[in-house]
Amino acid sequence: MPTTLLMPRKRSKIPSPIFENFIEERIEGAGETFLVSFLDGYLYYAPLSNISMILDEFGATTVRKYFRQETLLPNEQSLIDDLVKRNVFKIPGGQLRSSVKPSTRWAPTSATFSNTQKCTLRCTYCYAEGGRLDDLDIPVSVAKGAIDLIVQNAQVQNVDPSIRFLGEGEATASWGVFREIIEYYKEQCRANHFMPSISLSTNGVFSQSRLDYIAENCTHLTFSLDGVREVHDEHRVLPNGGGSFDRIIATMRGIEMRGKAYDIRSTVTVAGSATLAEFVAFVGENLQCKSLHFEPVFDATNVTNLKDQIEHPDGQIFVDHFREARRVAAGFGIQLHYSAASLKHRETFCGASDASNFLVTSRGIVTSCNEVLQPSDPRAKLFQYGVWNQEDGEFVLDHEAIDRLGKLNVHDMPKCQGCIAKYNCAGDCYAKSASSTGDPASTGYTERCYITRELLKDNLLLALMFKMAGVDASGSAQHACPM
Ligand code: SF4
Ligand code: SF4
Repeated sequence: MPTTLLMPRKRSKIPSPIFENFIEERIEGAGETFLVSFLDGYLYYAPLSNISMILDEFGATTVRKYFRQETLLPNEQSLIDDLVKRNVFKIPGGQLRSSVKPSTRWAPTSATFSNTQKCTLRCTYCYAEGGRLDDLDIPVSVAKGAIDLIVQNAQVQNVDPSIRFLGEGEATASWGVFREIIEYYKEQCRANHFMPSISLSTNGVFSQSRLDYIAENCTHLTFSLDGVREVHDEHRVLPNGGGSFDRIIATMRGIEMRGKAYDIRSTVTVAGSATLAEFVAFVGENLQCKSLHFEPVFDATNVTNLKDQIEHPDGQIFVDHFREARRVAAGFGIQLHYSAASLKHRETFCGASDASNFLVTSRGIVTSCNEVLQPSDPRAKLFQYGVWNQEDGEFVLDHEAIDRLGKLNVHDMPKCQGCIAKYNCAGDCYAKSASSTGDPASTGYTERCYITRELLKDNLLLALMFKMAGVDASGSAQHACPM
């Protein structure tokens, strides 16, 4: 079976799905094992048994012949004998996906709060339209109901419950509600001898007087910073239109002074892509952050009320700059991440699958996706699966919607079946894929597919090099929303 690569890509300003024949990179007769051209030779990748290797033309041809069960020449047989001896063709173990319906299994021990629609910024591309909605805060009774629920589940499952803040606005902009949720959660953890875990994704624009509380209580902190000053200030603006770069840097320094580590998450625009290496050098020289997460900007105009379309960076150019930035990052001991190219084996991209994510919005809506937060979102029917009932003081769940979310996995994505990134990308962000057709499974290849596949190959090569040097380079753990 010949290896088919993506056709040359169009360079369009606004992303459009790329429809063509499905990619087929699996080796004929070898199940879920892939072989693709790479550098001067080939990359062999068996994700289910976590084996990868670089082959030359002779090696690639021989391996193909071996799996097609053709008669081998003596030198070919001796290569295969050697690879068999090294356990390269071992049969993968691994767990099968649960056959129990997601609605039967649903028992979250982690809650994400979109606790407010208020925001201290007006980012031009914001998928949540922060600060441009109704400025609602989550009723504290709803948040407490969610905490009671995860604590009960955590008791049964004998694990620590956790909470996160992320969503329609800036969590700290509703300071009183934010603190009340944290204090109630900590109280419940104390009463049940649980270790608290509180993650905050923040734009970093809040009063310096709040730094002590945040540093003391938040176990994980992620700041949104899009690039060097001009790049960041082009889109992440204050309500008066001014840039927010200096405010965020001051917040990060305040956090550093309190001895707290944090990550940076960057939305990469066209200008950001061109200056990625410069940005990494800035972080390396001026901040203590050692983990930078880059995702190309996504145009959310067809799922929000935002009017101005935003140009996304060209895939090839993004990859070129990511590679350049990676070289700079290595000099500072900084790790760069892009969500879909993680080396971690996965069959679902994120916690939207199976309704694993339990995100409660300021309106008391329960959604599995961190970006599908409003009832008016055309994707609400797919991702939103419950609502708080104030009268009964409990969440009412839509079991059919939960079971539909079980379809969000790589095995139900036709385009992904023969793709080398299948078990790393797992179909990519379902909400973004669903934004064009409403159904993530019917979407064609996107610009992100190109980026994912290139960066995955890089990551596999780097892992091979680290392995030779005796360093563990396995991917980071799966996040509820890797975006
Ligand atoms: S990765 Fe995409 S689908 Fe999954 S939770 Fe995040 S935004 Fe939603
Ligand atoms: S979404 Fe991911 S797994 Fe699917 S084709 Fe694209 S890169 Fe491959």
